[in-house]
Amino acid sequence: MDVAFYGHTRQYSNLKEELDAAILSVLESGKYVMGPAGAKFEAELAEYFGTKHAIGCNSGTDALWLVFMALGIGPGDEVITTTNTFFATAEAIWIAGAKAVFVDSRRDTNNIDPDLLEAKITPKTKAIVPVHLYGQAAEMDKIWAIAEKHDLFVIEDCAQAIDAKGDTFELCEKSDALCTSFIIQKNLGTFGDSGGIVTNRDDIKERITAMRNHGSYERSHHTYGFNSRLDDIHAAVLSVKLKYITAWTDRRIEIAKRYDAELADCGLTLPTKLPGYRHVFHLYVVETEKRDELLTFLNDNGIDAKTHYPIAIHQQNGFPWGKDTDMDICTPNAEANAAECVSLPMFPELTDDEVDCVIAKVREFCGK
Ligand SMILES: *Cc1c(COP(=O)(O)O)cnc(C)c1O
Repeated sequence: MDVAFYGHTRQYSNLKEELDAAILSVLESGKYVMGPAGAKFEAELAEYFGTKHAIGCNSGTDALWLVFMALGIGPGDEVITTTNTFFATAEAIWIAGAKAVFVDSRRDTNNIDPDLLEAKITPKTKAIVPVHLYGQAAEMDKIWAIAEKHDLFVIEDCAQAIDAKGDTFELCEKSDALCTSFIIQKNLGTFGDSGGIVTNRDDIKERITAMRNHGSYERSHHTYGFNSRLDDIHAAVLSVKLKYITAWTDRRIEIAKRYDAELADCGLTLPTKLPGYRHVFHLYVVETEKRDELLTFLNDNGIDAKTHYPIAIHQQNGFPWGKDTDMDICTPNAEANAAECVSLPMFPELTDDEVDCVIAKVREFCGK
């Protein structure tokens, strides 16, 4: 049996009638950009996160740099984040003109290590961008406390963690903003690209609403801005899918529990879930020094496993903070994560038989 890494077409088939109707109604409305479907989804997203505002945009990457620019973060400023994340986190800092400063991650959760954070703060530091990697929230209580002490902005990169929760906190509860992505492979994804920002700050909402639309606060009047709007067709799709996100997460957690239980004796490092946290398993990542061998074995046996992310950002060629710079980067945990990660198939539409098949093949590789 072959097992795919994504279930995009299955999800579409399951919701075909509802999605087709939603898309058709936008087509028939004649309102495709900044129309009612967009406004409706933004209201639903804000309600879902329990924030005052939500603003749609073109991508998760845009969401991040729109927030940075709205906060006036730019040349000469430093933004603290992690290096074991998708490239876009640092890319967005670079687009804003600021410098990414990398703090190491915890070796167990792979999220930013709050205990190492303060040492990286300089007079140039403006913000902290914790990434909720693989679907588990970073330790926001500790991060908010540090940010408050040093008067820094906090912007959450939640591209992988919609529906996640901490033990004592909600996402974006005390942050300036939270950015997310709705590209199809994320836990809540449309048939293409888009992204969103949620915030409790009126000034950020007002600034980004204009910035994403050519800096226009009023028709024919412009300040600097960009074109990064959320199309109404995508918004309509996302309105349909948002209703299912909790059920989809629950299914992801159920699959993760089976992987946890049945791979426990395989000698692999399984995902660490912090007590009380809701880990939404955007990715189920095991770690092993035999990363390449496991990956090849699974792929040769029809299991579409992948790696997230095999090259830490600071080790990418040709990037401003790449290998050749003299920046002081000490991130052994992030580098170990990059060297050892293997993502097993994980999506809500996986069947129990497919989960069995993945488990059997991983066990076979491990000699069990
Ligand atoms: C996907 C992702 C992004 C970027 O989102 P896009 O919509 O692809 O631009 C940013 N950060 C993280 C952690 C991601 O996983």
